[in-house]
Amino acid sequence: MNCPNCGGNTRVVYSTKGVDQVLRYRKCYGCRFRFKTIELEEPYARQMKKERNAHDR
Ligand SMILES: [Zn+2]
Repeated sequence: MNCPNCGGNTRVVYSTKGVDQVLRYRKCYGCRFRFKTIELEEPYARQMKKERNAHDR
């Protein structure tokens, strides 16, 4: 993911998992701008659905 401030490369400094989403704090190499992104974790959500279906049977 590129920096929204200058478009440079960023790295993840910290990430934490929620129930169905991942919170990532990123820092830009160029301008040292810090921002966070919230990303849905789809494969995980799909797995949960599958398990739930199995239990319904
Ligand atoms: Zn930047």
